[in-house]
Amino acid sequence: MQSPLHQGDHSIPHDVIALDIGGTKINAALVRISRNDAEIIETSTTPTVTSDGSGGVLAAAVRVAKDVLATHPDTRLEAVGMSAGGVIDSTLGVVTHATETIPGWKGANLAEPFTAEFSVPFRALNDAHAHGLGEALFGAGRDHRSMMMVAVGTGIGGSIVTDGHLLQGSHGAAGHIGHIGVSEAEDLECTCGRTGHIEGLASGPGILRIAARLNAGDEATKDGKSLAKAAEAGNTAAQEAYRIAGFATGKVIGSLLNTIDVDLVTLAGGVTEAYSGWLDALRQGVAHDAMDVVADTPITTATRGSHAALLGAAAFALDSVTSEIPAEGMEA
Ligand SMILES: [Zn+2]
Repeated sequence: MQSPLHQGDHSIPHDVIALDIGGTKINAALVRISRNDAEIIETSTTPTVTSDGSGGVLAAAVRVAKDVLATHPDTRLEAVGMSAGGVIDSTLGVVTHATETIPGWKGANLAEPFTAEFSVPFRALNDAHAHGLGEALFGAGRDHRSMMMVAVGTGIGGSIVTDGHLLQGSHGAAGHIGHIGVSEAEDLECTCGRTGHIEGLASGPGILRIAARLNAGDEATKDGKSLAKAAEAGNTAAQEAYRIAGFATGKVIGSLLNTIDVDLVTLAGGVTEAYSGWLDALRQGVAHDAMDVVADTPITTATRGSHAALLGAAAFALDSVTSEIPAEGMEA
């Protein structure tokens, strides 16, 4: 596929710091990016202390980024990229919508502490967007022109990348696949405050709820791992819960294929690996809703794991820097 790194000279490698701010840990990486590849040179991790609020979390992120850089003191750092939760205005580097998981995250200026410390351009992306961009450019989607990622875990998220460009949308909210309405979820509350969205039915917690309703048993519905184990061991209620969720997710994917007609669908997230019957049901759901012309779109699984978000954030930061140069002159 065509890389987004088409502006400026990317035949030589560029060094970028990438950060992935998760609910439990902050990952930092020194990433070396060239036209066709991205290599993680060094990583470092620190816990996310959510009770420290946005200021404390960002200070910890700056520290872990400095740790990574200190291991390669000869680095010519060109940009810093970040993957983080919430809806992010990637031009301003500000979080516009977020849950209260990290107090003060909504409204936080992510760029400020990094530009103050590193004096290079900074760009932040929503974590689902960063993950999808990383997979599209350097993972499952690297030989395809367009890709939709569907991540099914605690929630359901996604991202759409065409010709190397991430669809962020007018508000930075594009790809919220979990918040598409399905009839099977009609009476279920969603994390967004609406009812009837697929996330309430087919996310990890949603599948546990279905299984409980179907009387899969207390042992099976303790957590996602227990439910997957029960389904593999022949618990028919657990299997049925995965089937209902997988089929509904497949129908949503089929409808989206009718709308955006991408080359490839890539699945990621904990549920993807939980129980094989889920994927079979998902394929049946796709077949149910996808028009003939898109019905054979390949469906695959993500290949870059937890590194994908780092690679996506790094590529996005570098691309923004290079496309900025003609308009604003030399940054340095
Ligand atoms: Zn919703």
